[in-house]
Amino acid sequence: MYEDLYLVIPYEFFYYLFIFFLLGLVFGSFATALIHRIPLGKSWGVSGTHDVNARRSSCPQCKHQLGVKDLIPLFSWVFQGGKCRYCKVSIPIIYPLTELSVASIVSLVYILCGMELATILIMVSVPFLVALTAIDLKFKILPNQLVFIVGGIGALYVGYVFFVGGADIRDQIPFLSDHLLGMLIFPLLLWGIGKLVTFLLKKEALGFGDVKLYAVCGLWVGLAALPQMMILSGVFGVTMGWLWRMVKKDTVFPFGPAIVLALLTLVIGQNMNGEILSLIG
Ligand SMILES: [Zn+2]
Repeated sequence: MYEDLYLVIPYEFFYYLFIFFLLGLVFGSFATALIHRIPLGKSWGVSGTHDVNARRSSCPQCKHQLGVKDLIPLFSWVFQGGKCRYCKVSIPIIYPLTELSVASIVSLVYILCGMELATILIMVSVPFLVALTAIDLKFKILPNQLVFIVGGIGALYVGYVFFVGGADIRDQIPFLSDHLLGMLIFPLLLWGIGKLVTFLLKKEALGFGDVKLYAVCGLWVGLAALPQMMILSGVFGVTMGWLWRMVKKDTVFPFGPAIVLALLTLVIGQNMNGEILSLIG
């Protein structure tokens, strides 16, 4: 019985799963840097500042600059017992949890969608999507730079499928127009719904960041997936808003996390069913 199982799942699968999990931890540590730097207006990339010290990570408590030993995702936290090596102050569990959740999503993308350039692009967008979620929960904003980066990766993803998808590029024009129309119609519809809800409830229902993120979603999933996107983000939004109210006693729940979850679910679903992968062949 175990031999059969061994035949069905080749060991390469577990080998790559391990590699993608480690890659996901590195992405997770990058997401943590985004979450803590972007709301403060600090640089997180290679450009922006020539001052190396401003880019280096340091302990928020004692300001001691962190070395390689302190920056290994997840493992540093575990082996240091969740404390800073220098001042022994506890490092919040949200750091390793963020790393673990990014690594889990990246691994899930590998398990469900396999190893294709299109799915690698989904993985690359995960740290930015997780950072959007965390920053929206904490500050109720969706930073433009993160929304644009996820849109840029979406453009690469759509462009890749368009150019590589068919023997004849003309066969791919419906695919391309569906995704470009999605980018236009998704935000218009959400903006309209937001205006209507604001009118009915007489209070601001949606931020413009949500509308921009919806444009990015339309580019990723295409106009044909509009009903699914509406239903999923609506159901996730209501569920998460209810949980938020129970746990945080806060009546204003940001919509961004629900949009991100709906986007990931749909993009993974489209690649899992082979809709996109069959186009690539
Ligand atoms: Zn410290």
